[in-house]
Amino acid sequence: LRRQLPFEPVATEEVEEEYNVVALLACTECDYFRFKPHEGEVVYERRGRCPECGSDLIVEGVFRTEADPSAFPDHGELRELKEALEEAGYEVSDHRICEDGSIEFEYDRRGDPRELARRLAELGFTAEPKGEAGAIRVVRHAVPEEEPAHLPLLLLSVPCFAWAAGWYAFRSPWYGLEFALAFSVIYFGKELAKLRVAAREGLRPRLPLVLPVFYFPGVYTSIVRADVKPMLSESLCRIGVAGLATGFVLSTAVFVLGSLQRHVPVKVQVVHNLWTLFLAGKLGLKANPLTLAGWAGLAVTWLAALPIYPLEGGYVMRYYLNTRLVKWFSAASVLAQACLRWYHVAFIAAFVLFRYTSSIPSDRSFLDDDERKDWGPLLLLLLILACLASPAPIGLWPTDKLVNVPKAYAWVFLR
Ligand SMILES: [Zn+2]
Repeated sequence: LRRQLPFEPVATEEVEEEYNVVALLACTECDYFRFKPHEGEVVYERRGRCPECGSDLIVEGVFRTEADPSAFPDHGELRELKEALEEAGYEVSDHRICEDGSIEFEYDRRGDPRELARRLAELGFTAEPKGEAGAIRVVRHAVPEEEPAHLPLLLLSVPCFAWAAGWYAFRSPWYGLEFALAFSVIYFGKELAKLRVAAREGLRPRLPLVLPVFYFPGVYTSIVRADVKPMLSESLCRIGVAGLATGFVLSTAVFVLGSLQRHVPVKVQVVHNLWTLFLAGKLGLKANPLTLAGWAGLAVTWLAALPIYPLEGGYVMRYYLNTRLVKWFSAASVLAQACLRWYHVAFIAAFVLFRYTSSIPSDRSFLDDDERKDWGPLLLLLLILACLASPAPIGLWPTDKLVNVPKAYAWVFLR
């Protein structure tokens, strides 16, 4: 046969219990082919007519696969994928369809990975480099699973717990409400910014996974969930930067707005970070629901900046470092927090580490991994980590029982 459809049959000793059988139908005259679930076809049997040229279709092969038969590309899709590669500047020299339904393209000259990522996402495919240089593996998006029912509830819990925290801090449900509203604006503003950027990067984001952090009811961090596997580390970096920058700007705005309002006696102590210390020096110290919400927003932003994949700081780190190093950073970050006795932060960081960071395949790589990097995001990340770190992060301490806070630090909020 003239067509180039080298298809690797599975060796019999490798066959698992669970597999599908697919048949490959190909036209005897033109390039047309399609895969279908096997229904008793015999190899070289004639099966219908080619929709492209009307010649005979014959069964070119019957194969076992662990993939769903619908994952295999058809003739039109293969042509579109090839066009996408070529229009992105890749010079395709060869291709083969693999037994898991993915397609491997070999190319002589590399093109623009950003353009390729955009075009593949439009076609419903995703790609990653294949080991050696000069080849990529293209695979259809996985069918999205059902949205878990607890996610909207977790989102709803953000303003509810914030209200409880504000009520506790000011001993008034009305001040609690004001705090909850201001905090929700910051929190959801930050999430929306991330979702918008993720959508612009073609990732089809879904509801974020909200993770509560104990000690300060209403303080959360979150994980971006997307239907499409990101093809560019730059996309992740942009999502991270969007979250960090929005969190920082919104929180600062609320903090400044609060310091223009009147003082409200507060029953808890909250510890400065460098940035609030600077702002308080310029604007004067005032405790009220708005300054507390601004402070809590900054604490959430700091938490998200921890270099733990897939938090925002981890996304930025992944842009510069490979997966293995990012994993080490994540683990070191958890250890450092445990050593500082920030157990509440260490706990959530450890949860993220074991649940999410550890499940990233270590050989995972992006189409733009070897591109030149822009250093702006790293600078932003380091600034946020340094300026928003507080000796006692994310806590409402009812008394003076703080253990690991230097005495020289001024409190933001006095009784
Ligand atoms: Zn044909």
